[in-house]
Amino acid sequence: MKTTSTRLAGLGTTIFAEMSALATRTGAINLGQGFPDTDGPPEVVDQAVQALREGRNQYAPGIGVPELRRAIADHQLRFYDLAIDPDTEVAVSTGATEAIAAALLGLIDPGDEVIVLEPYYDSYVAMLQMAGAVRRPVTLRAPDFRLPLDELRAAVTPRTTAILLNSPHNPTGSVLRREELAAIAEIAIEHDLVVISDEVYEHLTFDGLPHIPIATLPGMAERTLTISSGGKSFSFTGWKIGWATGPAPLVAATMGVKQFLTYTSGSPLQPAIAHALDADDAYFTDFTARLQSQRDLLCDGLVAIGFDVLVPEGTYFVTTDIRPLGFDDGIDFCRQLPERAGVVAIPHQVFWDDQDAGRPLVRWAFCKRPEIINEALTRLGALRH
Ligand code: PMP
Ligand code: GLN
Repeated sequence: MKTTSTRLAGLGTTIFAEMSALATRTGAINLGQGFPDTDGPPEVVDQAVQALREGRNQYAPGIGVPELRRAIADHQLRFYDLAIDPDTEVAVSTGATEAIAAALLGLIDPGDEVIVLEPYYDSYVAMLQMAGAVRRPVTLRAPDFRLPLDELRAAVTPRTTAILLNSPHNPTGSVLRREELAAIAEIAIEHDLVVISDEVYEHLTFDGLPHIPIATLPGMAERTLTISSGGKSFSFTGWKIGWATGPAPLVAATMGVKQFLTYTSGSPLQPAIAHALDADDAYFTDFTARLQSQRDLLCDGLVAIGFDVLVPEGTYFVTTDIRPLGFDDGIDFCRQLPERAGVVAIPHQVFWDDQDAGRPLVRWAFCKRPEIINEALTRLGALRH
């Protein structure tokens, strides 16, 4: 009996599931998988409850309920001055994860080459493989994780059809600068490439650094599919309300796949996320400031313990080099960490083709309450020489 397709070869179980299960099994503090330990705004929950009680419990339209599509379009206009037609240029998805899957399956043919930033968010590797694509890494290297523009130019071949971007970048926390985005745009336009831009951490850039959607650069709105999610911006990761925005043909290709993956999901949650997106500017600035202070708390504590800390410019995550503490293999380190210190973290290595580059790096989530971060740091003190 054939029990597995070749599409799944080598993919295994995601590191996030493995490490969250390890945290549950051992009772360790989970600084692995990126989910907040506090809920988002209570009035957004109230909106969802109201929608449940009002009977909004049947299939939503495949592309999403009208008020959410309107709110997504308004958000793109308010924050980025991007004008989007909510009826043809927005598709609501089951988290950003489904939008990524549907976009890759809908836009990429077997044998197409896709340029991706390494280290990769794990679903990119899986979905590129399922689409039959060839991934061409452009590597962001420690300690500063900047985009090597010459390597980016060299990665383009006659078979390249798309660039898959992620900024703010998981797992490095790097935020692409305007000059880097301009170089990517120049290449995309010159070679007539589609850009798929995962911007789920769009509201999590720190120290006043702006998030710049690549779709805002000249000539890019017409070739960019932008993906985001209510999970990250509003601390409702379990709701899995995501979306893709961009030119109608790219959204239509994404929808062409999405209609057969889930068709639709989260009917009563969609109007609640619409309400969340309509929040005043203070919500977004407070949210960023809170995460920035949690970043600082965790980074300072990890420095004090003796890690080499690569301070992130955005996202939920900080990367450390574990070698100053006498370790050299992140996978071993993370598997032993619950027993050694009662904490769970994520080894970078699983996100890299270049295993040597990823081996000594470990990712820690700071989307946790300060008291939890402090408790984790106290426990990690056991690793001090
Ligand atoms: N892209 C990146 C870069 C992520 O870190 C995540 C995880 N939150 C996702 C996509 C998936 O988002 P969602 O939970 O909305 O599916
Ligand atoms: N994006 C989250 C992270 O990087 C995990 C989401 C998931 O488990 N798929 O931790």
